[in-house]
Amino acid sequence: MTKNISPAGFLNIPVPRDLDIKKAISDLRKEKNVIILAHYYQTGEIQDIADFVGDSLALAQWASKTTADVIVLCGVHFMGETAKILCPEKRVFVPDLNAGCSLADSCPADEFEKFIKAHPGHIVISYVNTTAAVKALTDVVVTSTNARQIVESFPPETPIIFGPDRNLGNYINSITGRNMALWDGACHVHEQFSLEKIIKLKKEYPNALLLAHPECKSVILKLADHIGSTASLLKFATNSGNKEFIVATESGILHEMQKKSPDKTFIPAPPNDSTCACNECNFMRLNTMEKLYNCLKYEMPEIFVDEEIRKKAVRPIERMLEISAKLNL
Ligand code: SF4
Repeated sequence: MTKNISPAGFLNIPVPRDLDIKKAISDLRKEKNVIILAHYYQTGEIQDIADFVGDSLALAQWASKTTADVIVLCGVHFMGETAKILCPEKRVFVPDLNAGCSLADSCPADEFEKFIKAHPGHIVISYVNTTAAVKALTDVVVTSTNARQIVESFPPETPIIFGPDRNLGNYINSITGRNMALWDGACHVHEQFSLEKIIKLKKEYPNALLLAHPECKSVILKLADHIGSTASLLKFATNSGNKEFIVATESGILHEMQKKSPDKTFIPAPPNDSTCACNECNFMRLNTMEKLYNCLKYEMPEIFVDEEIRKKAVRPIERMLEISAKLNL
């Protein structure tokens, strides 16, 4: 049935107006033994219908242990690739294959390979926000949850290349005293937060704590009361006795923060050059309930990874999962 539908045509398939879309998604999920994994940066309604919501590390951990036949990854392309690399026997889908990532795009594999060759004898540590081809050039993959611990698992004198996020790399250098060679990449969402506007917000909400993701620029991190992965920011906000927070990461996380702490106020940190008060990843927001429904119904668009690349890329991801399990992360 799917053979005659092109990926571009797939995105335009209308969903019947009178369809109870939540029920239809749940029915299809059961019928086809599908697990729906959603990143914290997805829309609230996708997070609510998912079987599991988490950050990149948690999504990889769930993908590696699921017994479902099919994984639908409501996130961006590299997350679907990571799931496929870990579970080659399963079919993996992302509702909109155009959901890319500016950070992954900032590190083309051929250029990264030249950078590695220019730094002989270095261990290569790559953030999970990379293509399968970059992971295949990597010794250990990290996420923002475990980057510090994985870097510190190597003796201090070990020469290390860290890519692709320069802000995260700078932050890890600053807290570990390392001098890793950094790839010059960045995420367009986290680079955009305005220091000026955040300072203005802090004056408006003097009791608010600033929570920031380490992909933000160092000027923002210097001002932050807590720096961490999306999961860490969520945990901090949930456990804190404070009632107001300014959140400098993709604004999708505010949905789960508000759900866990309905009595607290969460204010999205504003970007530099936008009239919008919050900061959304346009790639993450390409996935919609309608596309998720069509993805389950028509079983497309599917993620494929070249087997040679997959065999090389799986080792650094498994290494990350092993270290994370040992460290209880
Ligand atoms: S928020 Fe940034 S790092 Fe995350 S998917 Fe979007 S572009 Fe990539």
